[in-house]
Order: sequence, then structure tokens, then C-alpha cells
Amino acid sequence: MKATRGPIPTRRSVNQHAAPHLTEAVTVSRFWRNVSVGAPDECWLWQGDTSTGTSTGYGVFFYGGRMRPAHELALSFTTGEARTDSFDTCHACDNPPCCNPRHLRFGTRQSNVDEMHDRGRGLIGERSPQAKLTNADVKAIRERRANGALQKELALTYGVSAAHISEIVNGLAWPDAEGPITGRSKRTQRTPSSTRRKAA
Ligand SMILES: [Zn+2]
Repeated sequence: MKATRGPIPTRRSVNQHAAPHLTEAVTVSRFWRNVSVGAPDECWLWQGDTSTGTSTGYGVFFYGGRMRPAHELALSFTTGEARTDSFDTCHACDNPPCCNPRHLRFGTRQSNVDEMHDRGRGLIGERSPQAKLTNADVKAIRERRANGALQKELALTYGVSAAHISEIVNGLAWPDAEGPITGRSKRTQRTPSSTRRKAA
């Protein structure tokens, strides 16, 4: 061992000498290593620590001196926008660990609540709360789905939930509209309102 060197720098003293934008870049790259990044339309699941308590299932990451929701950081790191207090980070896919920025947006608290209560009624994206799909939209959605479009992609395009797209393509929603019905076996075909769904 050489005794001529100065004190071994601690992690803290190293960080103090690093340029701020470098430490930020390191943190951001460390963040994304916790995300299972998939195809653009897929849910990108958080692999790191998750929250407990009332918001169980959401990823958390230490940033800016405190634990922060991972999905919020995913959106901020991608868009450069910071969430302000009156906004929530909303999932279009209803999948708490998802960190795919395409599935995320900052929305008002009320719109987030409305969305949960009114799934599939066009609160996502640019559509107004009152906007509804048209018969032509439904027909196009079914045709695109039959041609291989992903449900999540269609959900983002038309501003409705993926769950609602699923209901549309299997004919549970918009039963009178045109377009090919897919993904629905004869066994599960619904008969007029009398049948109760049984647990499998
Ligand atoms: Zn997602």
C-alpha cells in the first residue's frame, strides 16, 4: 500500500466534484435500468422497489431527496415536464407498475377519478369528457384489430381504455355497430341481459 496518496475520497466527496448534469444523467440511467422496456405499445414494468400501503403496486425511486412514484419520474424524464400539485400521473393502461411514458399523462385529479368511474368513455388524451366514439370509429377499431392492431395502440389512438377496446372488439360494447367481432368464443356469447356471469 502506498501511503503517499491523500485520503480515499468518499462517495460524497466524489459526487460533490461531479458536474450536476453528470450526476443527473447517472441517476436517470440508473432509473431506466429498473424498467423492463418493451415494444412501444407494451406496458413497461417497473422491476425495482414498490410502494406499500394505500398505493401498493406502484414503483418507487429515490430522486431529489425523497422517494417518488416511478411512473411519474418515467414521464418527467421523458418529457422534461414536472408534475404540479394539482395533477396526478394517470395510467391509460390501468397498470400501476407500468412506466411506459406512452401510457402515462399528467391529468387533473378529478379527471383521474372520473376515468376510474367511467372507464372506456373517452377521458384519455385529447378527447373531452363528453366525447363518445361514433359507429364509424367502432367499425374502424374492429377492422384494425382484425388486421392485427394492438388493443393498447387502439386505446391510445381513440382515447378510450384498453378494456373498452376489448369490449368493442369482442362485441360486448357497441353490439349494434358494424365491423368484425373477434376474440369471442360462442360459449361466452351473451344472451339478452338474463344470464349472470358465472365464476370459472
Ligand atoms: Zn402500460
